[in-house]
Amino acid sequence: MSDKTEYFSKYFEIENRKLFSSHQEISPENFKELIGYYELDEDVSCQVKTKRGFCRKNHKTGWLGVTIDGVEALIGGHCAKTYFKADKRFSMETKRIKTELERRDYVTELQNYKNNADVILEELSNLRANLITVRKIVDVVYKTMPNSVLRFLESGQRTNNWAVNVDVLYPAKNDDQKPTWQVHALTSLNSISTTREIISLITKVKFLIGIVEKFKNNDISELPTPKLRYYTNEIREKIDYEKRYGRFVNETKKFIESKNLDLLLFVCDDYEEQYLTVRSIFKIIGSKIQSDAHIRLRIKRVEERVSKLFNNHPVRVNQQVIKYKNNALA
Ligand SMILES: [Zn+2]
Repeated sequence: MSDKTEYFSKYFEIENRKLFSSHQEISPENFKELIGYYELDEDVSCQVKTKRGFCRKNHKTGWLGVTIDGVEALIGGHCAKTYFKADKRFSMETKRIKTELERRDYVTELQNYKNNADVILEELSNLRANLITVRKIVDVVYKTMPNSVLRFLESGQRTNNWAVNVDVLYPAKNDDQKPTWQVHALTSLNSISTTREIISLITKVKFLIGIVEKFKNNDISELPTPKLRYYTNEIREKIDYEKRYGRFVNETKKFIESKNLDLLLFVCDDYEEQYLTVRSIFKIIGSKIQSDAHIRLRIKRVEERVSKLFNNHPVRVNQQVIKYKNNALA
């Protein structure tokens, strides 16, 4: 890597260079090589000699070049494209500068990771442990909930529709009529992820731990640029993994709230499944009470609570949707 490659973000850094002259003209005819690249926050004047004379166009990004006489001058990005495009030496130089600057950025970023490798490893190890905790909770859901609930969850994950309907029994308006069941939207349940999604993230975190362990023993300056790029991109993933973990935790927390879990009773096919659902809920929330009487009472309480939302009219699991579901499966 050449030490003379520079990146400039302030004009004074260029202006103060001994060999720089704002009066020098530069063109493919007197071009020798490039010093670096600039992206300034102020306008500077382009020094390229064009067919119509000294360019002088105001611009902010371009290349600092050297003439064969050793004087440094600004090549505005616009003129580089127009007048230097065909110049082989110039295009090789821009490639060299870009590669060297890219490498320098990777080295700086990776040096920071290397200095903090032990902290990064500890954070990743905690992240993995926390993900395993989420997985265990989610596992209880999938291993203990009855089939109708599992079907509802699978359908929710596939269609992103978590809506639960309920049938409400309205009394007859007069003696000629019968009481009628009418379907109502009850609520949308909170979502839950698949075990597969969580395991996939755990695997990725484990893989990253292996990469960081291997990386921390490397001499960064000895590594080729593609390897630097690889390590940088992999370690950058950590932020995304942490975000995804955060989403899993929030989602799972909301899903296992009692008021959410209780409404799963309204996606059950029959009483037996409701019974299994409540038993599963007790397991998920870590309740020790598991007696039949408690389970029956819980089902009754949930029904009463929902019935209250509809003027205390009787409620039942929505029948039409279940019928429709069966038809859709046939
Ligand atoms: Zn120009």
